[in-house]
Amino acid sequence: MTQISPDLPIIGFAAWSGTGKTTLLEQLIPELTGRGLRLAVLKHAHHDFDLDQPGKDSWRLRKAGASQVLIASSRRHAHLTETPQGEAPLGELLAKLDRRALDLILVEGFKHDPIPKIALHRAALGKPLPEVRPEDLLAVASDVPLELTVPLLPLNEVAAIADFIEAHLAAPTRAESGCDALSPAFLSVEQARERILKALTPHPRQQTLPLAQCLGRVLAASLTSPVNVPPHANSAMDGYGLCGTDLACGQWRLMGEVLAGHPSSLQLAPGEAVRIMTGAPLPAGVDTVVMREQAIEEAGMVRFTAPLKRGQNVRQAGEDLAAGAIAIPAATRLGAPELGLAASLGYPELTVLAPLRVALFSTGDEVQAPGESLRPGAIYDSNRFTLRALIERAGAEVVDLGILPDNQAMMESVLQQAAAECDLVLSSGGVSVGNADYIRDALEKLGAVAFWRIQMRPGRPLAFGKLGETPFFGLPGNPVAAVVCFLQFVLPALHALEGRNWQPWRLMARALEPMRSRPGRSEFLRGIAEQDANGQLQVRTTGPQGSGILSSLSRANCLIEILPSQPGIRTGEAVWIHPLQGLLG
Ligand code: AMP
Ligand code: MG
Repeated sequence: MTQISPDLPIIGFAAWSGTGKTTLLEQLIPELTGRGLRLAVLKHAHHDFDLDQPGKDSWRLRKAGASQVLIASSRRHAHLTETPQGEAPLGELLAKLDRRALDLILVEGFKHDPIPKIALHRAALGKPLPEVRPEDLLAVASDVPLELTVPLLPLNEVAAIADFIEAHLAAPTRAESGCDALSPAFLSVEQARERILKALTPHPRQQTLPLAQCLGRVLAASLTSPVNVPPHANSAMDGYGLCGTDLACGQWRLMGEVLAGHPSSLQLAPGEAVRIMTGAPLPAGVDTVVMREQAIEEAGMVRFTAPLKRGQNVRQAGEDLAAGAIAIPAATRLGAPELGLAASLGYPELTVLAPLRVALFSTGDEVQAPGESLRPGAIYDSNRFTLRALIERAGAEVVDLGILPDNQAMMESVLQQAAAECDLVLSSGGVSVGNADYIRDALEKLGAVAFWRIQMRPGRPLAFGKLGETPFFGLPGNPVAAVVCFLQFVLPALHALEGRNWQPWRLMARALEPMRSRPGRSEFLRGIAEQDANGQLQVRTTGPQGSGILSSLSRANCLIEILPSQPGIRTGEAVWIHPLQGLLG
């Protein structure tokens, strides 16, 4: 399936007029589509351009005052929008394209917009290179040699320009390649998540519980159906049952009536029918049902006013679920439909996984538990309460170890015990550079824990590893960073420990404001998403994005994710959002 990508590759072409930009694009487009790329072109035009011929009907209707006109035929359609308020920003225009059907957007014009560009140069024109911001310039296509810091492409060789574009599309972004000039230990969000999930194995503890206590639990083994559902062929309508080999006979003698829950011992012969109710088992000889509204009953006989088809209006035995088929796959979290389904198969109890046990503690000499009077320079420990709620919301049990003081011997003994008793150990604080090393030393002694720097904001520092066999996460101390990291890394890990493959749910929304980001980094902003009058999702940020501000997370209903390959989001542009509904409590 084609993924809807909010960061579809864009390449602009910059040139002085007379360079032959359109002629080049006219040759480049078939070259690229011939290589399997699906293209859109966004072209800037003179302010007075028109698609309509003056005098055509659509032109007349627009001139009559329609501010938007859709012209459609079986081959193509166009959406003409009058913009008396001025030109729409590039992002808003791009959002109108159907990205599911595209691999690349070529842009002509829009020379001041910050998009990657190829500049064109023709010597005979006697002009300098067109002006392009250095950070946007991908390459120069020229008909003469030039001294450049970017690749030089032959202006008159369309295939070579297409080769360059193809290679550009295939090249991993800086973040995907995982390298960074500063440190090879930088990981992208995806890379970190992949490494974490690879290191985990589902936990095996099971218990059997009465059905009524299974809500939110995880099914330990696939539940198969012991019976056919429905158990017998039955009528899908209130009507008349008859034999489908017998459709031409015109009228049928009524032999009786069958009600739901009351199997009948009738044996129908040709020319005979029964009155039958919805859900009633078909008597012997009946394989077709005609609805009551299409029947006329008269003097012990019935005839029909609509054409008949053999087998119509019958639910076959095992049609929903055949005996032996999997009704609920292993590792499913049991909700209302699964509990009802299990009951409908006659199961009074289910074997489920015991809840995951997660040991949770905070670190840092500056953090104090609420209820104590605050020492100078100290803050209250909010993370333990936020994280506790997130863990419980995910269906796991919390073993609260409190706030661990900066004391290595104590840290070691608590960690060792937690690792022995729990399925996962989770801490916050103390993993960024500049923190006292006692937690590092303790972790190093007890197992193998890596200290990563993730290409994301907030939440750059993250520790992950094993204490013995037990996975350990050290989240950043920053309250919002701790939540974002929990959602990106710990929540998928909790699902994996229960045998499920889970990823944050992502939707696409239109940005209502520009959003800044540094290329190469995943940016998570707190967002408020809502539907516009067309039912389309649109999103704005909650305002200042300081990573300690929990109140802004409380106002958010989604996280906005700006991908490493996105240089920033323009108003109107498409952006990923992760709905938070159901995750935070
Ligand atoms: P750290 O990751 O330990 O360098 O902490 C980063 C920031 O988060 C600092 O301002 C800490 O004071 C704050 N912080 C650390 N732990 C907690 C906590 N449990 N609750 C609230 N804030 C914390
Ligand atoms: Mg600290």
